[in-house]
Amino acid sequence: MPARVLILGDGDAGTIMANKLRFHTSRKDVEITVVGNSKNHYFKPDGVHISFNMLDYKKSVKPTEFLFNYGVNYIADTVTAIDVANHSVKTAGGKNMNYDYLIIATGDRFTPEDIPGYSESARHFYNLDHALELQKELKAFKGGKIVIGQASIPIMCPPAPYEFTFLLDEYLNFHGLRDKTEIHYVYPINSVFTIPNVADYISKKMEERGIITHTLFNVDSIDPKNKKVQSLEGESVDYDLLVMIPPHRGQKVISDSGLADDGGYINVDKNRLNYKDYDNVFAVGDATNLPVSKAGATAHFESQYLSNKIAADTSGNVYNELYEGDVACTTVTGYEKGITLFFNYNKPPRANFDSKFDYFLKWQSADTFFSSMVRGIA
Ligand SMILES: Cc1cc2nc3c(=O)[nH]c(=O)nc-3n(C[C@H](O)[C@H](O)[C@H](O)COP(=O)(O)OP(=O)(O)OC[C@H]3O[C@@H](n4cnc5c(N)ncnc54)[C@H](O)[C@@H]3O)c2cc1C
Repeated sequence: MPARVLILGDGDAGTIMANKLRFHTSRKDVEITVVGNSKNHYFKPDGVHISFNMLDYKKSVKPTEFLFNYGVNYIADTVTAIDVANHSVKTAGGKNMNYDYLIIATGDRFTPEDIPGYSESARHFYNLDHALELQKELKAFKGGKIVIGQASIPIMCPPAPYEFTFLLDEYLNFHGLRDKTEIHYVYPINSVFTIPNVADYISKKMEERGIITHTLFNVDSIDPKNKKVQSLEGESVDYDLLVMIPPHRGQKVISDSGLADDGGYINVDKNRLNYKDYDNVFAVGDATNLPVSKAGATAHFESQYLSNKIAADTSGNVYNELYEGDVACTTVTGYEKGITLFFNYNKPPRANFDSKFDYFLKWQSADTFFSSMVRGIA
């Protein structure tokens, strides 16, 4: 009987994990099943460019079920309960599934309800619908004060807010609106980014481009009537257009199943990715509470580790490697420049600042993603 690997979630992490594991194992040894509830797979990094109408969003979306390699079973359903003690998972469609290995890759969700006034007034670009809404808003914008930020930590892809801010500066210049616009960037910690050498670079660039920064700004509430955003620290900033990344939490099914920390994330071993003392329950992607960036690239490196480990386990081999927390993230910084950060638990970030190559790398990343990375090839 093949070992049954059940993967929950059909986003970046679940798909990469399933496809990589399929490459590493034979169907005789391992049966792979993915359960997920996304009809389409949206390449989220494109949301920044879509907001500025620089990309046709149709190229950033593919039907989910087409992205799985031959030999991966895909079930379109919603997971409603996970019982790790009894190795079983229930779904909304009435399935009761058992597994030998469970891999949770359910990502996270937005919780705008955590911020009073958020839903009535804030815009963002963290999913396709909102990026398209923001695109319309920016097209109609004729000047004023734009405030950009993230309501709290953690969020997916921490560099995305500064990437958006730099592109906004370029976009407004291009449309002859920069002189008529104040750009304010608010950030929750006492710096403009979490990584010191990147923060120095970002801060200098923002100063050069006349972008006003407000640090130690955790959003408490938004007053849509008077167009003001209020921080927990007591500062208030008014706006004409507010671009605010909503708070994130792990999925409800994770909390309801008793697997989550206070933020709804799964507490996994940072080097082995297993949940508590279970050696057959793992989490990958944004669903974990690991101290590395919530990024597609993180999901890729985690899947690389875990597919090798499960392949070794199921074929009677020993696998002594550890997951080292690798991350690679490319963002554009405007005016045909980009930056790629590489780091892991042990090595501080190395960054290639102001790189033209990284700028072009970002432009073709959806193609690379759909044709190789999500397929488990890269
Ligand atoms: C604007 C933006 C820019 C970004 N830029 C980059 C970048 O440049 N580089 C980078 O590496 N990363 C980037 N990211 C981050 C990256 O997109 C995410 O980290 C990645 O998508 C996380 O993958 P995941 O599979 O963990 O979560 P998701 O992709 O969110 O997938 C989770 C899946 O689980 C499914 N699911 C959830 N609950 C259930 C349930 N109960 N039952 C069944 N299915 C369920 C969901 O439908 C979803 O398909 C960016 C993100 C954004 C928003």
